[in-house]
Amino acid sequence: MSSQSEFWDDERKIREAFNVSNFICPMKGINYPCVVCKECQKMELKQYFLENGLIEKTKNSSLISLIIEIKDPFDDMLLKRICKTLFKETGIVMSEPEPGFSVTFFITPALLEKVESKEDLIKFIKDFPHTFLTETISAKSALNKWERVTAKRLAWNMGVR
Ligand SMILES: [Zn+2]
Repeated sequence: MSSQSEFWDDERKIREAFNVSNFICPMKGINYPCVVCKECQKMELKQYFLENGLIEKTKNSSLISLIIEIKDPFDDMLLKRICKTLFKETGIVMSEPEPGFSVTFFITPALLEKVESKEDLIKFIKDFPHTFLTETISAKSALNKWERVTAKRLAWNMGVR
């Protein structure tokens, strides 16, 4: 970490992770994301520590990994499912997070082209742990409602009046 970036807040570090260009990987010869192979000499790998996460940035791609404090196995399942679905939907959320982390965002110039507002995405990533935990509350309330309605119907089918 450079002496200057030590004083950056998380938002500033995530903004820096977005600072990627269409650098052609000399190892792979194509526009391969260097942050995935992490083998070539010219990728300029940098690491930035977040309050609850880690950024790995190279010239053409970045990984932003966050830890979400999850104690409930149901929430853990929800997170895995939403990450896989968001991967299919956006390509920006990785279907499998980096080892040791709860969620990993993948940044390349091509993926950023699909994004309407980079600043909104920076805030989204920064707030994601909080957003996710809020969403688990609505998932649980939907499940509770399903339980009540289904139990009533099944009790009726059982002939219990
Ligand atoms: Zn490379």
